[in-house]
Amino acid sequence: RVPSLRFLPAIKPARQRCRWVRMESTTRRQRRKDKDNDKNKIVVIMGVTGTGKSRLSIEIATRFPAEVINSDKMQVYRGLDITTNKIPMHERLGVPHHLLGVVDPSDGELSSSEYRLLGASAISAISARHRLPLVVGGSNSFIHALVSDRFDPGSDGLDGLNSVSAELRYDCCFLWVDVSLPVLYKYLARRVDDMLHVGMFEELAVFYEQEGKRKSHTARRVGIRKAIGLPEFVNYFRVFRPGDGMTSTLTQLEGEVERRVLFEEAVKAIKDNTNELAKRQLEKIQRLRSGGWDLQRLDATEAFRAVLASDSVKSSEIWESEVLGPSVKIVSRFLA
Ligand code: ATP
Repeated sequence: RVPSLRFLPAIKPARQRCRWVRMESTTRRQRRKDKDNDKNKIVVIMGVTGTGKSRLSIEIATRFPAEVINSDKMQVYRGLDITTNKIPMHERLGVPHHLLGVVDPSDGELSSSEYRLLGASAISAISARHRLPLVVGGSNSFIHALVSDRFDPGSDGLDGLNSVSAELRYDCCFLWVDVSLPVLYKYLARRVDDMLHVGMFEELAVFYEQEGKRKSHTARRVGIRKAIGLPEFVNYFRVFRPGDGMTSTLTQLEGEVERRVLFEEAVKAIKDNTNELAKRQLEKIQRLRSGGWDLQRLDATEAFRAVLASDSVKSSEIWESEVLGPSVKIVSRFLA
C-alpha cells in the first residue's frame, strides 16, 4: 500500500510520480499475474528441522486435494526411517507421498539437479490429476533447485544472496513454520531422546553392520551416510561392533564404563549437530526471504512452549489458531 502523502503538500510532483509508479507497478504486477496463471500452482512448506512441517502438510492435504513431495535430502533415501524422521505410514492418513524413501542408498548421492528433475515430474503428474502439489521438507537447496526458473547445475547449494533466484517456474505459495531457536533447541533435545526410545540406536547398529559387510561405500560419506546419527555413532560402533558383543580387549566392567561414555558422547554430538542444522537451515530461509521469496511466516513458538510444558491441549489450540488456521486461509486465498 502506498502511504498517504496528505501531510506532505510540498512534494506534489513526487506524488504524481508515485501515482505513475503505482500504475506502472500495477501493470507489471498484472503482467506477472497473467504469466503466473500459466504456471502450475504449488504450496511449499518450509521450516527448520523439527518445526512440525509434516504434521501441517497432512492437515492441509486433508482439507484440500493434495499430494506431498518430500524435500528433505536425507528422507529421499530408503532406510534409516527413525534417524531421518520420516513421517510414519499411519500418520500419512492415506495422503500420497512422493520422493520419500525411494532412492537406493547404494546408488550414491542424489544431486540438486536430479532432485529438480524428479520433483518437476512429480509436480506435473500431480497437477495433471488436478491435485495440489505440496512440497514439504527442510532442505532449502533442494527447494531452491526445484522452483527456480533457471538453475545452475554447477552450484549445488545456497551459498549467498546472489545465488537466490527470485524468478520461479511455478506459482508458489510459501508457508514458513517458524519456532524461536531457544525453544526449538529444548524440543529437539527431547526429540533425540524420544527417537532413541523408539529404536534409533538399533536402526543405526543394523545399518552400520550391513555397511561393514558391503564395505563399498563405508569410507565415502555420501548421501544418507551424512544423516545426523550415523557419523556421531561411528566411534561407538568402532569399539562396540554391532553383533560382536563385548570387545575382547576390555574387561566387562571397563567395557560397560567405556560403552556408556561413548554412547553419551554420541548422543551429545547428535543433539549439538541437530541444533547446528536448525541454525544453518534458518539462515538459508532468511537468505531466501531477503532474496525476494514471499514467505508467509507462521509462528509456532507458543505451541512448542506448551508441548515442553506437557500441555498437549493448549499446544493443539495454539497450533490451530497460530499455524493451521492461518495456513488454511492463505492456501484458500492462493487457490481462489
Ligand atoms: P546444504 O545446501 O548445505 O546441503 P540444505 O538446506 O540443502 O543445505 P539440509 O537439509 O540442511 O540441506 O541438510 C544438510 C545436512 O543436514 C545433511 O547433509 C545431513 O547431515 C543433515 N540432515 C538434514 N536433514 C536430515 C534428516 N532428516 N536426518 C538426519 N540428518 C539430516
